Amino acid sequence: MLTIALSKGRILAQTLPLLKKAGLEIADSELNSRKLILDTNLAEVKVIIIRATDVPVFVQHGAADMGIAGKDVLLEHGAHGLFELLDLGIAKCRLMVAAQSSDHLQENILKVATKYVNSAKQYFQQKGQPCEIIKLYGAMELAPIVKLSHCIVDLVDTGNTLKANGLIPLDHIADISSRLVVNSASFKTKNTQIKSWINAIEKNI
Ligand code: AMP
Repeated sequence: MLTIALSKGRILAQTLPLLKKAGLEIADSELNSRKLILDTNLAEVKVIIIRATDVPVFVQHGAADMGIAGKDVLLEHGAHGLFELLDLGIAKCRLMVAAQSSDHLQENILKVATKYVNSAKQYFQQKGQPCEIIKLYGAMELAPIVKLSHCIVDLVDTGNTLKANGLIPLDHIADISSRLVVNSASFKTKNTQIKSWINAIEKNI
């Protein structure tokens, strides 16, 4: 049996066609059901669809053998106990620092609103910029407008969300895309099965 953890939401829509090309299909009846463990066209493969931030946790602990998650989530998690084996090249975006202007970054202690607490902390530490991180779970763009923070660290794709809220992308922290991760123990015990999936997926990237 092989269990694959997939991220809900925007990544899922781009992941399913990739898996289908590699030979793994999940029927709409399964996707639309309230089941948490979904059957696939292959009796030996099950899929769980969970919050993106939970994917590395399930894979790290071996509750899933493989998973697909954004690099943003993996950077934040630290990716202990799992191998990042493929860049799927989907759900591409950038992790960036944004503010109303570059002047807003000229602070002795920079207030940064973000859900990427670890990535932001590490970035500003490397720059030697003292900062206070304010953890938010969404609507980061609001924080500079209401003076909760001087800047934000968030994902940027088209830049439209920033623009609509009067923010400018300033510093680039990392390029983000979805990655295939594998539990390190599963990679040893189910090596043949996992490698054949990696090869099948890689051919269709
Ligand atoms: P955009 O307006 O196109 O720059 O998109 C920015 C918004 O979409 C932000 O709220 C991001 O958190 C979210 N976003 C953009 N790309 C991704 C992605 N690849 N994965 C998850 N969220 C994303």
